[in-house]
Parts: sequence; structure tokens; C-alpha cells
Amino acid sequence: MSDNKKPNTNKPKFNAYWIYGIVIAIFIGMQLFGGGSSFNEAKPITENQFLDYLRSGDVKTVEIIRNTHIAEVFLTQEALNKEVHKGARKTSIIPSSTETANYKFEFGDQQNFEDLLNLTIKENSLTTEKKFETENNLWGEFLLSLLPFVLIIGVWIYIMRRMSSGGGGGPGGQIFNIGKSKAKLFDENTEVKTTFKDVAGLEGAKEEVQEIVDFLKNPEKYTSLGGKIPKGALLVGSPGTGKTLLAKAVAGEAKVPFFSLSGSDFVEMFVGVGASRVRDLFKQAKEKSPSIIFIDEIDAIGRARGKNAMSGSNDERENTLNQLLTEMDGFGTNTNVIVLAATNRADILDKALMRAGRFDRQIFVDLPDVRERKEIFEVHLRPLKKADGLDIDFLAKQTPGFSGADIANVCNEAALIAARNGKKEVDKQDFLDAVDRIVGGLEKKNKIITPSEKRAVAFHEAGHATVSWMLEHAAPLVKVTIVPRGQSLGAAWYLPEERLIVRPEQMLDEMCAALGGRAAEKVIFDKISTGALSDLEKVTKQARAMVTVYGLSDKIGNLTYYDSSGQSEYGFTKPYSEETAILIDKEISAIIEKQYQRAIKLLEANKDKLTELAEVLLDKEVIFKDNLEKIFGKRPFEKEEPISTVK
Ligand code: ADP
Ligand code: ZN
Repeated sequence: MSDNKKPNTNKPKFNAYWIYGIVIAIFIGMQLFGGGSSFNEAKPITENQFLDYLRSGDVKTVEIIRNTHIAEVFLTQEALNKEVHKGARKTSIIPSSTETANYKFEFGDQQNFEDLLNLTIKENSLTTEKKFETENNLWGEFLLSLLPFVLIIGVWIYIMRRMSSGGGGGPGGQIFNIGKSKAKLFDENTEVKTTFKDVAGLEGAKEEVQEIVDFLKNPEKYTSLGGKIPKGALLVGSPGTGKTLLAKAVAGEAKVPFFSLSGSDFVEMFVGVGASRVRDLFKQAKEKSPSIIFIDEIDAIGRARGKNAMSGSNDERENTLNQLLTEMDGFGTNTNVIVLAATNRADILDKALMRAGRFDRQIFVDLPDVRERKEIFEVHLRPLKKADGLDIDFLAKQTPGFSGADIANVCNEAALIAARNGKKEVDKQDFLDAVDRIVGGLEKKNKIITPSEKRAVAFHEAGHATVSWMLEHAAPLVKVTIVPRGQSLGAAWYLPEERLIVRPEQMLDEMCAALGGRAAEKVIFDKISTGALSDLEKVTKQARAMVTVYGLSDKIGNLTYYDSSGQSEYGFTKPYSEETAILIDKEISAIIEKQYQRAIKLLEANKDKLTELAEVLLDKEVIFKDNLEKIFGKRPFEKEEPISTVK
């Protein structure tokens, strides 16, 4: 992804700075008129003048400031009315904590002055009060009193800077931007370079979006005939299948700006944020039209309304969704903004999103089949230095169920592995290692396993391998390993057929093979272990699906409890009675038990071969199809590789 820019203006900055200016002015003003002393100074007099006033009984208080040799004089109320004191500073009318002095004068030696003062007071039996102060640097005091405000203003300015500089920013910087959309913009400056050439396979989807490209390039052609232009299209498919890539390619082909963001970006903990972000996003997109808005993971906001009513936290999401619908309805056909959204769960989306004039087109982006995988490999192999004669067909066959993103990942990983091994080019083995790594995680050669644990793992995996070898409909095995990898201690790898329709006997055979690991432990050691957790999970899910989803159980019959709309009113309650629930549970455990017994029978009949296989496995750690053929002979029902359908 190349650099992107934040399309924020810096308008709010000015308003805010004005306010701070005014605030500062007010504070300074208050200091001037409230304290006042430093600008409207007390009238200076001489020490002798002071003594005269003192003797006349005009002085109420004298304040001696030690470190500056200055004394401040406060007159009595009567004295202030006397003719002599006309020139003295008037006492401030604003009530203030510190009284304003009327005169001030400088004295010489402090001790002498104090002695003289005491004597005069005593001789004349005056009631004059003496006060002693030390520091009274008025200007310094003034600055000091401003300090807190200076600090506060400094902090404000810092935050404002962070905020208006956009892009960067930890959480603090975002606070004031919260109502702005977080969309990434790719426009003329940061042009989208992705084109349909970068999107392999996905022929059908490309064809469907081609129309959108044409429209964006040439809107008049469509509107002049009175045709209505689609406002939105929904790309539906598993993660990593290239939905974002396709949307970007549309923008790249049409050469229009592309706003990209994720549904979850709208939702924050603050109320009203989502809706205002939607507004902001559409405003920006309209300014740049023709343009494309791409909302990834739209299910984060587009989930059906009214579900999970119990949690109560959905209001915010609903507001966001409503705003999105309003915006989409709001712009006319001449706005030239097209909204593409991606999800992997079209079934849970609110039906209102799919209504005409909104996301009325759905484009399915499936996991690639063998042929498409080959094309995707070709795209991602382009930048690699690969070994001569690298068999791309073989790679495509080895990666069933891989998404485009997985394949991109394999290619990158293979290059890294080759580099790590100091190779000059990436060869077949690097790709196979990369596939293994992506499927199973990193090999953990130094994970500590006791010999007896290792034996158990070997028999467990050999059990899977043996059972699947013997069953017609189980997927053919590719390799078995007992090298710990990721979370698992061992693994058996199959090449599943890519079927569109699965028949019950195929499901049952697969369940039997999945239970083969545990069955082998039982047959050989007469013990079972916790090592079969993921097998059991898989089998249980499959059995449940057979009974409650696909209607493959005699006892329950030809019905399904699956709700494709995802909008059942049942919520947490089950759509069947208690009796049916019991029946379902019984049926599930009966199916699993039957397959388990079948696996045990098979392994008991082939105990010698199972043991032989486990020993080879213990010896070699990794075995392939050939090793199995040596022990079991050629697999009777081995077919040709599945032929992919030609579109
Ligand atoms: P999605 O949005 O469906 O989750 P992406 O479009 O983000 O998936 O795909 C992730 C990456 O996988 C892409 O950047 C690209 O490298 C690769 N990829 C996925 N599908 C394809 C494809 N059909 N052709 C080429 N590359 C693909
Ligand atoms: Zn297992």
C-alpha cells in the first residue's frame, strides 16, 4: 500500500485558537485590574515625611519589606480625608485581599529604622501596626500567578497541534477527530495501481464489476438513455479471496479516487460517532466524485437489526446503519459515487441493505479452484526468482482450500525459506515447506516429547492414515508427520476432493478416518488420550450438521433447522422442542459411535499393517503416499485428480 493522505481540512484550528486568545486576554486583564499595584503605584515619599505622618497619627499600618528596604504606608480613614494626603494614592475601590498602600518610601539600615519606628510609636503612644514582609517582587509574583494558565494553554495548544496534524497520533490525537471518517484515500496523487491484471481467476466477478468500471469512466453513456446506475454492490466471500483487491482494481481501471475503510472503523464507544463518520465519508466522496467507497467487513455495522435485542448496545450500530442507508438513498444517480462493500456473511446482513437502490447486486467471490489457484500462483510468482521447470500445476494441486491471500503468503514464505537456506532461487521443496508451515504452523523440532508420547502420536497418526487408506470416500492422503508443529504433535495431510455436493457416505467415511487416530490408540494400547480433541471437535460438528442442517438423519427426517436469513426470532432459544433436542443429541452420538466402532474394526483387522506403518513413522518422522503404498499395496479406489469444471 502506498502512502495515503488524510483528507482533513484545518478549519477547526482557527476557531479554537481564537478562543484561547480571548481566554488569555481575560486572564491578563484580571491580573491588571485586580492586583493593580504594579501599574498604579503607591506615591513615593521620604523617610522624614513618613515620620511626620506617623507622629500625626495618620498611619494605620506600616509594612516593612525586608529584602528590598522599602516600606509601604497605609493611612487611616480620617487621614485620607486630610488636605496633606490629597496626592497619596487612593485606596482601591475593588475589594481585594491585599490592601493597597498609599505611600511607600525607602529606608536605610533596617535595624536603625526599626528602632526609630518603635521609639516614635512608644513616645507618641500610637496604635500604628507594624508588619514585616520579605519577598515582594510584584512583577515576579504576577508572572507566577499566570503560570497555571500558561501551562493549561500550553497543553491545549499541544493537543490542537497533534489533532490537526492528523495522520500520526496515539489515541490522544484522535479525540477531536472522532466524528471524521477514518477512510484511507487513494486518489490522483496516490494513484491506485491495481488493475484487473493483478486479480487472477474470479472471472465471473470481474465481469460483473466491469459494468461499474464502464459507468465510472463514462457515466453519460448510461444516464443519457435514462438508465439507473447501481449505487452499490456487495462482494461476498471468505476472507482473503480478493474482495479488497477486486474493489481496488475497479478504482484502478476506472482511474477514480478510492476511499477504503472497514465497517468496524465506524463504531466507537461514543454515541453518535458512527453516524457522523458515515456523513463525513459520503461528503468527502461526493466532493471527489466520480469515486468509489469501499467498506470492508460491512457486517460490523450491517448486521440485521433487532437481533440480540437483549444486549441493548446495538443502538449505536443501528444509528450508523440507518445513516448509511439514508446516504445511499440520498444521492441521486448523478452523484457518481459507487459503494462497494465486502462481507463473508451475507446471510446475517440486514435485509434493508439489499433493497433496490442500495446493495442490490451481490457478487460472489469464491475460494479458487485448481485452475484459479494456478493463475493466482502465476501472479504471485512473477516477482520471485524461481527454479527452472517449477511445476505450477503441482503447486495448485497441493493447495486445496487455500485462498488467494494464502497463496500470496505461500509464495512469500517460500522465498524467505529459500533465502534462509542460502539458495539462489526458490525451488519446489521451498514451496512445499511453505505450504506445510502455513497449514500447520512452525515445526518445533526441539519440543520435548517423551518416547512413549511419541509412540502414541505415531500410532494415532498411523491410525488416521490406515483408516483413510481403506475407505473409498475418505480423502487420499498426502503425507503423515509426527514432527510437532504449532499446537499439534502430529498431523496427517489429505488432498480433499473439491466437491460441490457431499453425499452422506462421504461424510461418514471422513468421520471414520477422523476417529481413526483415537481408535488406533484404543486398539494398540487399550487406552485413549486427550490428543484427539480436534478430531472429536471436527466429527461432532459434522455429525450435528448432518442431523440438523442437511436433513441426513432418518430419525429427524428431511428438515433443517438452519436459517439462511440469519434473522430468526428465536434468538437464544432453539427452534425445536425439548423432545426433538433429546432426539438430536441421541442421533449425533449414535452416528459418531457407529463410525468409531467401524474404525476400531478396520484397525483390528489390519493391526499388523498399522503397526508397521507406525514403526516406519517413528523411524522417519515424515512419510508420504509411496510409503503407504509399500505397506498396503496400491489403493484400489484411487481415481484421477479431480477435474475442475471449466467455466
Ligand atoms: P479479502 O478482502 O477478500 O479478505 P484481499 O483482497 O485483502 O482479501 O486479499 C489479500 C491478498 O491476497 C491480496 O492483496 C492479494 O495479494 C492476494 N489475493 C487474493 N485473491 C487474489 C486473486 N484472485 N488474485 C491475486 N491475488 C489475490
Ligand atoms: Zn488426530
